[in-house]
Amino acid sequence: MTLFYNPQILTEEPVEMTQLNLPPSPERLAHINIEASVYNILKNIGEEPEREGLLNTPNRVARMFDELTSGYHIEPEKMINGAVFDVDYDEMVVVKDIDFYSLCEHHLLPFYGRAHVAYMPNGKVIGLSKIPRIVEMFARRLQIQEQMTSQIASFLQDTLNPQGVAVVVEGAHMCSMMRGVKKENAKMKTSKMLGIFKEDQATRREFIAHINQQSLGF
Ligand SMILES: [Zn+2]
Repeated sequence: MTLFYNPQILTEEPVEMTQLNLPPSPERLAHINIEASVYNILKNIGEEPEREGLLNTPNRVARMFDELTSGYHIEPEKMINGAVFDVDYDEMVVVKDIDFYSLCEHHLLPFYGRAHVAYMPNGKVIGLSKIPRIVEMFARRLQIQEQMTSQIASFLQDTLNPQGVAVVVEGAHMCSMMRGVKKENAKMKTSKMLGIFKEDQATRREFIAHINQQSLGF
C-alpha cells in the first residue's frame, strides 16, 4: 500500500493495531485509502491539508462515506428479519413521504427528497417500518434516481410477490443546483409501476390520489 500523504494525520484508531502488529482489517485499509484520497484532493485543489481546520478532514470524510454508503453492507434478509406476514388482505398499502438522502454516482453530491411506495398484497404483507428501511438501503449507496426507484420496486416485488408495486420518488439534485448549469432540472420525479399498477389505470390513479392527498398531520 502506498500512502501519498503524511501519516501523522492518522490521529485516531490505528495506534493499537500497529502496536499489536496485526495487519489492518479490509475495512481499516479501505478507510486509510479513502483518507489518502481526500488528502490528495485537498492538496490538488490548492489547499493546505496540514492546516488546523483540515487536519482531521480526511478522517471525517472517510467516516462519512462509511455512513453514507452503508447500504452496500446491509443484508436484505437480516433487515427484513421475519417481518413478512401471511394476511388475508388485498387492498392497497401505501407508505408516503419517506425522506431519503442519497449520493449521485456521477458527482458524489447529494440528492434528497421523498419516496412514496405502494403495493397491492397477494396474501403477504411486510411490517410497515420496513419500507423506509428498504428505501434507505438503496439510498445509502452511490445512485442515480431512476435506478434507485426501480430497485425499491423490484425488491418489494421479489420479497412479497404482490399483485403489483408502485414507487414514486421526488428528488432535488445538488449537482444541478450547486453547479448552476440547468437549475430547472434540479428537481426530478421518477416512477416505477409493476403488475396491477402498470396494467390497471384505476389502481394507478388511486395510488396517485393517495400521494397527492394532504397528510392528516400526525
Ligand atoms: Zn450528479
